[in-house]
Amino acid sequence: MIGSAVKPAKALARWFQANQRDLPWRLALEVPDAGLVVREAAHPQVSSDRDALPSPRRDPYRTWISEIMLQQTQVSTVVDYYHRWMERFPDVAALAGAAEKEVLEAWAGLGYYSRARNVLATARKVMEDHGGAFPWRREDLLGLKGVGEYTAGAIASLAFNRPEPILDGNLVRVFSRLYALDFLPDGKEGKKAYWDLSRAWVEAHDAALVNEGLMELGALICTPRNPDCARCPLSAHCAAFKTSAQERFPPARSRKDSVDVAGFAVAAFREGKDGEEVLLYTPRKAERLAGLLTFPLFPVADLPALREAWRAGLPGLPKTALRPRAVTVTHSITHHRYRLRIVEGRVEAGARTRSLPEGYAWAPVAGVERMLVSSLPKKIWKAVR
Ligand code: SF4
Repeated sequence: MIGSAVKPAKALARWFQANQRDLPWRLALEVPDAGLVVREAAHPQVSSDRDALPSPRRDPYRTWISEIMLQQTQVSTVVDYYHRWMERFPDVAALAGAAEKEVLEAWAGLGYYSRARNVLATARKVMEDHGGAFPWRREDLLGLKGVGEYTAGAIASLAFNRPEPILDGNLVRVFSRLYALDFLPDGKEGKKAYWDLSRAWVEAHDAALVNEGLMELGALICTPRNPDCARCPLSAHCAAFKTSAQERFPPARSRKDSVDVAGFAVAAFREGKDGEEVLLYTPRKAERLAGLLTFPLFPVADLPALREAWRAGLPGLPKTALRPRAVTVTHSITHHRYRLRIVEGRVEAGARTRSLPEGYAWAPVAGVERMLVSSLPKKIWKAVR
């Protein structure tokens, strides 16, 4: 189906080395026996012996933590969290020895707290089962909590330069355009086609540079709207560019696959001990927006239904006055299209709040902006303030 990926992979690697963003987790390691392995190094050959322990190119612990933090969170938000995390837990031993409370505190604001619990469980497993040395084989990495196909490929390739593929939304977009693929990696065959392509690329040239180059190209150049093809190192190899059909790839999900979510978003305030607080919610794994800190959302038709859902969902709260604002927030996330009317809530002053249901928490208003990482709750907050 495709020609050799060697030439475009080399072009991409050269572009990445010259244009990559300066991100803290991209620091190269000093490897005593192999000399200093730097980002600009000529491409070190990957050993053909798949069982030979590779010299890490980057610190696998740092690579892992950054990849987990970057799941569903923007790079600009992650940088500060990453620096603070590394000051507190500089290596896998320090993390494994920490109490869960401390780890959750350091994660606070990133949302999806199961990620924090998983990293703690994984750090302890790395200490107990692997003697503190991070595993580098894909199958061993997949045995770690919270490490799926993408993260296993990222750690193996970026930290150890193993030819292991990765696939996420950025890579799907780049591959779909490069090869004019008019399907998504949804079914078994579609998935296989994209993963095969990713494997072909990573085996064609330096694995770390190719994988990170693909990620960087998708983030900076081959963007969902208006890709910057004039600056793209792959334009000579790109089928969509040659036919001016960039916007046609990847194909949009059909309307029947998309789900409309209409209802209300509630920003409920109360006077806390140290000032005004607002109620936030972290949806559980099976819920929409799982793990993303947000405002309570109610997919109900009208205000009476909202009042009923509010009382039933938050029975521990004192009486709350719910007042609709004349503003509606619209937002699309993957195939969900949200249309939410904003409602402001005021919890009766002086009344005691009994315990909140799981996932709900009061947060100081002053710190809310920093805590929200997803675009939908950010839009809601902007509309409320
Ligand atoms: S030429 Fe344009 S569409 Fe093709 S990969 Fe590059 S940025 Fe994407």
